[in-house]
Amino acid sequence: MRKKKIIIAIDGWSSCGKSTLAKQMAKELDYIYIDSGAMYRAITLYFLRNNIDITSKKEVREALESITLEFIFNPKSKNSDIYLNGEDVEYLIRDLVVAEKVSDVAAIREVRAFAVAQQQKMGKGKGIIMDGRDIGTVVFPKAELKIFMTADNAIRVERRFKELYAKNPNISIEEVKNNLEMRDYIDSHREVSPLKQAKDALILDNSQLTERKQLELALNWAMGKILVKNT
Ligand code: C5P
Repeated sequence: MRKKKIIIAIDGWSSCGKSTLAKQMAKELDYIYIDSGAMYRAITLYFLRNNIDITSKKEVREALESITLEFIFNPKSKNSDIYLNGEDVEYLIRDLVVAEKVSDVAAIREVRAFAVAQQQKMGKGKGIIMDGRDIGTVVFPKAELKIFMTADNAIRVERRFKELYAKNPNISIEEVKNNLEMRDYIDSHREVSPLKQAKDALILDNSQLTERKQLELALNWAMGKILVKNT
């Protein structure tokens, strides 16, 4: 048996644990992990800071020309942080203020074209695992392994609430629930690259799975694609 480098695409609803799984898989497989949502969040942060009118194509186009995104390894967290024009914004982009606007920004055709072109470049050498909403359908339609993640709504809300509450104890569970529902609705109803399951994606419902179990399952799927018989 020999090992082949593949592309792994993970899509699914908000707060299903996509990035948790993707990071763990990347470590086990020694693959590059790319959080595509971080790119849309960083673009949104730039738009908010610069009061970009998202209904103006001209403003959006000019803003995108002023944005440089990079992923740089953080030795503390052992993960890559996203940099917006040279500034580490990994922490800032997780704020609810950004989450409130990100789905509207991500629905803009020009924004998607900007992000997707960079994502496809990153996948050129394979050995990559990327999570998002359109990775298996649009970014890498030929990805060797596609996983579509889902989990019960209440469980997703609780997970995201715990995460955000740790940073900001003023946050309410209602706010988090509304934000998840709003993002899922916009993400799955937008005209350009809506969130949907790729026909050849494997479904992973982790409502009742431990992190360990879901990792085992996904790694099994991955090894099925990575290991090829010597001919
Ligand atoms: O993955 P995360 O929840 O951080 O993504 C934030 C938002 O970015 C999503 O709600 C969605 O609007 C957008 N997104 C997207 N396409 C991707 C990844 C994220 O539209 N591939």
